[in-house]
Amino acid sequence: MMLQSDSCGGLDRIHPERSSGSECDGSIVRLPGHDEFSPATRAFEITSILVASALLAVLVFRTLPLIVGNPAWVFVGLLGVLLADFASGLIHWFADTWGHETMPILGRRLLRPFRVHHLNPKDFLRRDFIDCNGDVAFLQIPMLASTLFLMEHTSWGGALGVFGLGLCGVGLFTNQFHLWAHRASPAPIIRWLQDRGLILGRAEHRRHHRQPHQTAYCITTGWCNGPLDRIGFFPRLERFITRCTGIPPRADYHGFVSQHRGRAGNHPHHH
Ligand SMILES: [Zn+2]
Ligand SMILES: [Zn+2]
Repeated sequence: MMLQSDSCGGLDRIHPERSSGSECDGSIVRLPGHDEFSPATRAFEITSILVASALLAVLVFRTLPLIVGNPAWVFVGLLGVLLADFASGLIHWFADTWGHETMPILGRRLLRPFRVHHLNPKDFLRRDFIDCNGDVAFLQIPMLASTLFLMEHTSWGGALGVFGLGLCGVGLFTNQFHLWAHRASPAPIIRWLQDRGLILGRAEHRRHHRQPHQTAYCITTGWCNGPLDRIGFFPRLERFITRCTGIPPRADYHGFVSQHRGRAGNHPHHH
């Protein structure tokens, strides 16, 4: 008989199946779920999406004449897309390694979802468009605003604008691309984009969901994953940080995992 515990916040169900991820080796008895947010948080997320979309629309309007005038600008935009993908990997990697669920503000809102996602990937599919994209939109607002401002006030504004268009225009959809990579059968147009590697592919992202979750961190287009994994970028960075700080990675992560899993016959950990 599997045991139930009320000590772990966010546990919302007993999961009868044990096939939803490589973490599931028959030992998970209850899986954590994504937090339901308050109406105020939801209003904040809707506002963030509207503001970010409006700023992006202005940026498109300002940069499109440049790109139409000289298609070589597309390459500058692609550099921005590359940086968006790299940044998604860097943030994800940090959340998985040294991020703490208990960090003020960031912890519960931005780090906990990463923890939940490894143990219960399918739970992500429950999140709607606003819940999925609101936080990323909020983070994009200062970037979009400063890009627009600098575009008007510097001599290199054109290059920055097109770069920012690639960075923010694609970066804004990071979590959406990530969610689509988890859909078993996405819409044909999404599948087309995924199969051509224009957005994060399903097989590409599945690599990250294999134990020990230490490859393929980038979740926007996935373009950086191959090169970064080949040079061992993240393991090297981890060793470097541990050498400098003495703090090992994934302490919080391992704590979260052991808190939410119980070996058959064992009690889930209480604290
Ligand atoms: Zn991860
Ligand atoms: Zn995922």
